[in-house]
Formats: sequence, structure tokens, C-alpha cells
Amino acid sequence: MIIAVASGKGGTGKTTVATNLALVLAREREIQFLDCDVEEPNAHLFLKPELESSEPVHIPVPQVDLERCTYCGICAEVCAFNAIMVGQETVLVFEPLCHGCGGCAYFCPEKAIKEIDRPIGLLEKGAAGEIAFVHGKLNPGEALSPPLISAVKQAIDPAALAIVDASPGASCPVVEALRGSDYCILVTEPTPFGLNDLAIAVELLKKLHIPGGVIINRSMGGEGEAGVEQYCRRENIPILLRMPWDRELAALYARGEPAVEHLPAWRDIFTGLAGQILSEREEAR
Ligand code: SF4
Ligand code: SF4
Repeated sequence: MIIAVASGKGGTGKTTVATNLALVLAREREIQFLDCDVEEPNAHLFLKPELESSEPVHIPVPQVDLERCTYCGICAEVCAFNAIMVGQETVLVFEPLCHGCGGCAYFCPEKAIKEIDRPIGLLEKGAAGEIAFVHGKLNPGEALSPPLISAVKQAIDPAALAIVDASPGASCPVVEALRGSDYCILVTEPTPFGLNDLAIAVELLKKLHIPGGVIINRSMGGEGEAGVEQYCRRENIPILLRMPWDRELAALYARGEPAVEHLPAWRDIFTGLAGQILSEREEAR
């Protein structure tokens, strides 16, 4: 089973939820944690895994042999990302734009294109106690994160319950992280901005046919929260948990300490959340 944790916007407490949930679940099950927020992975700050391996992840980009090239322009026509341009006596490859699809090499009539590896980031694996840990670290300045997210997800062990920490938003990296998930927790905050981004994330879940529920972090009642509640009722999405603002929780967060390891009340709350999601999933089967 794969449970993803996502949010329409950054800073909602998504990683707090994902890491604490993994820690309570790990008491009873084999758990794998996959940090797919590869632009800013920070789950390791809370889970503190011992990393056992680190390997570069590449994408294939074209290299043109100008001795064979006839400057026919087919490669540029084929490329949907404007990553290759053919001039009168030159072919330019814009590597940061290249998605490594291989289309130009496939269609080149002169077989003048070979593919070379371009590193985009690191795939690191290890263990945080009983939790198998995997994360991706995108190279600084690199824009193309989906292939690295895909590499992180290829490490999913079907025998374990996988917790996927997705990046915030609803763009391609989030789609890549959520694809194939059995359930998704959307973490939001009770503000008009939070609601706006939650609605976008909910539409994404619908398109991906992934069931989900909402956690309202920094719950404080009021108009903002009423708006989120009304929206969830209208969309028939369960509110799984309301997390009130808690000074102790915030202090632990600032020190990179998981709440469930220090605050029994929060351990009970996350244990209840885990039980609720798992029993709902069992019933849905
Ligand atoms: S398709 Fe091949 S031969 Fe044609 S311009 Fe591109 S690299 Fe050159
Ligand atoms: S590999 Fe794909 S994205 Fe990259 S230049 Fe070739 S056609 Fe364009």
C-alpha cells in the first residue's frame, strides 16, 4: 500500500504529518519512507536516517555527430520542448530544457545522435531505525525533477507500507510523486490561500483517481476554517484531523524532533489517524 502526503502549498506541515505517521506505523508494520520532495527534501532532518548508499541519477541527452548530420531539422521538429535547434551548419542542444525522451535520436535519419548521461541529482537510501528510508536530492539549479522522483519511487518495496512525501503544489513533480498511490492525505491550513490551493490539489486527486482526506493544520476555528470545512463537505472529502497550533509541537519542529517521540498526546493522535486510514482502506478493498 502506498499512502502519499501532499499539500497544495508549501509550509502547511506536510512533512510533520508524513514523518510522524511513519513513526507510529513503524511500531506495527514494515514501513518505507520515500521523500519525493526532491527540490527541498527535509524528512531526513526528522527521521535522521543512517544513509547507506548514494548514487547519481541521470537523464539521457542528445549529442550530435556533425560529421554525419545533414542539418535536415527533423530532430528540432520532433522535440516538444524546444531543446534542440538546427542552424545552417550547426545543431545546438539546450540541455536544461531536454526531458531525455529520446525522440530526436530515434527519428534522426542519419543516426547522427547518440545519448549521453546528464546528472540531475542523487538517490540516497538508508534506514531510520526500523524504517527503510529513500530520498532524492535534486542538483542545485536543476529544473527537471520528475525523473529523479521516478527513481525514488522505483525503490518502493511492495511488501512494505510506503509513505510518500510529495512536493507542495499540483504540478508535474506532484503528479509523478502521487501516481500509483492508494490514498493521499492533503495537509492544509485554514486560510483563504490554503483553501484555494487545497481545491487545486483536490482536483488533481480526482484526475488521478486517488481517494484522499484532509488534515487542517494550525486549526483555530474562525471563518477560514469554516471555509475549508464547507468545501470538504461539498466535495465529500473527509477531514481526518484538526491539528491545533501547539507551542510544544512548534518547538520540537524547530529542533527537528518528531512529536510522536516526545509528546504522548500527539503519539495517540497520530496512532488514531493511522488506524482510521488503514481501516478505511481495508473497507474499500
Ligand atoms: S535529425 Fe539528425 S541529421 Fe537531421 S539535423 Fe538532427 S541530428 Fe542532423
Ligand atoms: S531527447 Fe527529447 S527532449 Fe531532449 S532534445 Fe531530444 S527530443 Fe528534445
